[in-house]
Amino acid sequence: MTEFKCRTCGRKVICERLEDAPTLPFCSERCRLLDLGKWFDGEHVIPGESLPEDEEEPEN
Ligand SMILES: [Zn+2]
Repeated sequence: MTEFKCRTCGRKVICERLEDAPTLPFCSERCRLLDLGKWFDGEHVIPGESLPEDEEEPEN
């Protein structure tokens, strides 16, 4: 018997076999999708790669 807590709603889920919980570590497909959405929301800010400043080269 396996016992785990849903990562989204915190509900305790008990299943007899791991195979019976395809949505693990979430209690349901809905919670799984909610969690994914949460992560995507947090991905809005992507640190841009700072380009090295161009050094001014004297033209000859
Ligand atoms: Zn849940």
